[in-house]
Amino acid sequence: MLGQLPERAPDKILNIMRLFAEDTRPGKIDLGVGVFRDAAGRTPVMAVVKTAEARLLERQQTKGYIALAGDPEFHAAMRGLVLGAAVAADRVAALATPGGTGAVRQCFEAARLANPDVRVLLPEPSWPNHASILDTMGIAWASYRYYDAATGGLDRAGMLEDLARTGVGDLVLLHGCCHNPTGADPQPADWAEIAMVLGQTGAVPMVDMAYQGFGDGLEADAAGPRLLAETLPEMLLAVSGSKNFGLYRERVGMALAVCATPAEATRAQALLAWLNRQAYAFPPDHGARLVTDILTDPDLRTSWTTELSAMRELMNGNRRALAQALQAESGSDRFGFIAGQRGMFSLIGADPAQVAAMRDEDALYMIGDGRINLAGLTPETIPRAARIIARHLR
Ligand code: PMP
Repeated sequence: MLGQLPERAPDKILNIMRLFAEDTRPGKIDLGVGVFRDAAGRTPVMAVVKTAEARLLERQQTKGYIALAGDPEFHAAMRGLVLGAAVAADRVAALATPGGTGAVRQCFEAARLANPDVRVLLPEPSWPNHASILDTMGIAWASYRYYDAATGGLDRAGMLEDLARTGVGDLVLLHGCCHNPTGADPQPADWAEIAMVLGQTGAVPMVDMAYQGFGDGLEADAAGPRLLAETLPEMLLAVSGSKNFGLYRERVGMALAVCATPAEATRAQALLAWLNRQAYAFPPDHGARLVTDILTDPDLRTSWTTELSAMRELMNGNRRALAQALQAESGSDRFGFIAGQRGMFSLIGADPAQVAAMRDEDALYMIGDGRINLAGLTPETIPRAARIIARHLR
């Protein structure tokens, strides 16, 4: 039987990670995999996480199960972080999941149970795993216009036109901030228009929130999703704690369902817990516990926001420095958009052949669609990366 397993090509990003690890050339630069790196090129455990972990080690008396939906204290802490006071707590059902990916999956599962014929609208482009998970689940999806490659910004008119064609029963996926892979985000006025259009069509938004705090700050980054929650009766959210707490391998995630009424939220809460039961029963707790402690202890929370600000400033500083170096190398402003975008990623406009040439000839690694991780750069590597990019994208 197992001999009949279908072949699957290795994941493209993991493949690039492997090629990079095997590359023996000195001075190789990895802008591929989407993890934060500090100025020394490391992905450190945040100091506040170390502190919270040390305290937890002292204090924790049991590893007994908690609840299928995860710890209610974790729900409250994450709900507050993402939604603030945008919506009453009794209208929100919450589910701890293994990572943001687990949350994305459980949101899709819930949407399909609510509407077996659900159609998901994805921004073009989006995180490739969105389409891949939907294909695996057999859920229909379509794209809506989102990115304008000519300007490096939003295709505002195209997006609103496409969203206006959605209807009741559709689920519209939006990146809450720091869009992956483009780095192009809706501005506050755009979020207001999105809310208005979805209010008219009756489509339900699903916000994927994987980078809160990586763009303009914790509050500013959540403003769009909060506006949707304030304006529309229903919404799904998939939240990740991987990046902003640096807890990648601990798998911290949460699915939130904002419902029209408290009674519907109670029903959704039971359904979500059941979804966890069917997939893996109890969600991981270690990382979730750390996040809860950090968010609810005032001192830890202050330390966390300070560390997170430094990470954000490093990435935004790299954006400015790379845009400047590219301007000098190319003698044009065509890469200026990189400075104005937000989050870890930008698309530099390279095709797969150019991406392969930069890797093979110059040991500069990025994803095949020309996505670069801004946190993969350091003050030392920026001049060389700019030189290589400008030369290959003449
Ligand atoms: N959504 C988006 C847009 C992402 O970029 C990521 C991380 N690459 C995730 C969800 C999920 O992250 P994780 O499962 O590692 O928490």
